[in-house]
Amino acid sequence: MTAVPGAETTTVLDGCTVVTMDGRRNEYPRGHVVIEGNRITAVGEGAAPRDLPDARYVDAAGCLATPGLVNTHHHLYQWVTRGLAVDDTLFGWLTTLYPVWGGMDADIVRTAATGSLAWLARSGCTTTTDHHYVFPHDGGDLFAAEIEAATRVGLRFHPCRGSMDLGQSKGGLPPDNVVEERDEILAATQEAIDRYHDPAPDAMVRVAVAPCSPFSVTPELLSETAELSRRNGVLMHTHLAETLDEEDFCRERFGCSPVEYVQGLGWLGPDVWLAHAVHLDDSAVQTVARTGTGVAHCPSSNARLGAGICRARDLRDAGVRVGLGVDGAASNEASSLLEEVRHAVLFARARGGPQALTVRDALEMATLGGAQVLGREAEIGSLEPGKLADVALWRLDDLGHVDVVDPVAALVLGAPPPLDLLLVNGRTVVERNHVVTIEESVLAREVASASTTLLTRAGVK
Ligand SMILES: [Zn+2]
Repeated sequence: MTAVPGAETTTVLDGCTVVTMDGRRNEYPRGHVVIEGNRITAVGEGAAPRDLPDARYVDAAGCLATPGLVNTHHHLYQWVTRGLAVDDTLFGWLTTLYPVWGGMDADIVRTAATGSLAWLARSGCTTTTDHHYVFPHDGGDLFAAEIEAATRVGLRFHPCRGSMDLGQSKGGLPPDNVVEERDEILAATQEAIDRYHDPAPDAMVRVAVAPCSPFSVTPELLSETAELSRRNGVLMHTHLAETLDEEDFCRERFGCSPVEYVQGLGWLGPDVWLAHAVHLDDSAVQTVARTGTGVAHCPSSNARLGAGICRARDLRDAGVRVGLGVDGAASNEASSLLEEVRHAVLFARARGGPQALTVRDALEMATLGGAQVLGREAEIGSLEPGKLADVALWRLDDLGHVDVVDPVAALVLGAPPPLDLLLVNGRTVVERNHVVTIEESVLAREVASASTTLLTRAGVK
């Protein structure tokens, strides 16, 4: 058993409904979950054994236990730039925000990331990615700052070393002062992997490589980062097919669709996952499926920016690994991963009718699906003996949920319920709807101050 600082020796969740997401999708109306150290050791129907030595028994009657949610796309730094360009398209919103982000430094990123991560925890998230792609020249070590934040809050973390090297002067969208030189990107990305990537099965930090998008990076950077990633055996992540503006950009500049463009540069495969993948025709869906590429479906952000609705059902039917993501907080001010589950169901049905996506399919995308996208389905994503102890315990006996017949419908279609307990790697991160690893009211003041500093620097406030 791995010794985990702060983890309870043994925790028993007793008397709760359990939705396991195991291979048989077992559900126990009144069951239990036993956690020893950072692993789940028992899951089943009925009362838990009473004779476990030194165990902390949690009376979980009235609650639903699910696997902790897995967030497959985010930009944590955006927590301090929310509420800007609220009625704009992606390109208009980015053009407003790039100059603001250009004023970031490590202190601001640390505070913003801590706020994002704490809020994610409140929405049931136990594992999150982050795609950080803005590195101002005099900003300090932003990548280290966000890893410090994740360690402090206590979430399992997959930071993606992002990058942009196609500034406006070369025909890209971002201003030149927020892009980097290709050589410095490649060196910094290698350094991030060397310093932080942990391939161990119970890793709390794994690094991925993530040039930003077709309209902000060069083809040379895409192909060279693909080589670098595969040389190091780490995953690859990028935005793709998010908007029709991006489709037009690719057709005009490269003479092909976004999927065809990145395929030619080595950017499809079982070690790649794409954020959004909204604008895919049937042949692109098949290409994504055939190559084993994963997708991060971000319904709220896509709706907030009016980008469209991802063909989640078609992708799943084609065999694509699909997870959910909140996307950056500046295009999804709510940043609640549980709300993404609800929106995935509602948007799929608005598009394809009431059978387009079940509540259990959507919850699967947020748990096991996300774990599959990150290549961690053997370790997280379901409640099974031997898996890591990443568990969410939702209270469903309150006024908002108590009479909803199906507990999964209560969780997914109802208002976000109180989160009674969130365990990450066996450690308590949320208890009775409050993050216990940080002081929320203090953090809120720090976030407000960081936001004011950044917006003042940009002349927005
Ligand atoms: Zn994004």
